[in-house]
Amino acid sequence: MPGYDPQNIFAKILRGELPCHKVYENDKVLAFLDIMPRAPGHTLVLPKAPARNLLDIAPDDLAAVMHASQTIAKAAMSVFHADGITIQQFNEGAGGQVVFHLHVHVIPRKAGVAMKPPASEKERPDVLSDQALKLAAALTRV
Ligand code: 5GP
Repeated sequence: MPGYDPQNIFAKILRGELPCHKVYENDKVLAFLDIMPRAPGHTLVLPKAPARNLLDIAPDDLAAVMHASQTIAKAAMSVFHADGITIQQFNEGAGGQVVFHLHVHVIPRKAGVAMKPPASEKERPDVLSDQALKLAAALTRV
């Protein structure tokens, strides 16, 4: 497996070199909205530590990412009036990974509504801003 590339797009977001619609942050984790959501509220949860994917992340960083993913999933159920949550996490190109900094997808789902295909449509920034504010506010209450 190749090593961690510090120039990947999520590393740039983590360093503040590129913007994001942040929903949650603690000392180990950053979470923000996917710019091409597969459903409204589609959130990406990342370790702050450099890790390419599940195959090289330290167990305590992985635990922090999963803990935050659970917290975000619970909040997203009410904010997005979801009936369920889909969790995805891809590893290496063969596993469907496109951006090589580990991230967990937290995707709110409505009964009977299919997810959009990956990377099919960019959401409007004002829509993402509004959703991020609502989810971040709900996260302060859990
Ligand atoms: P994966 O690597 O798990 O296959 O997917 C990468 C995800 O990152 C995709 O869902 C894609 O829409 C999202 N993505 C790609 N570039 C950006 C970006 O610049 N900002 C944000 N917020 N999401 C991105």
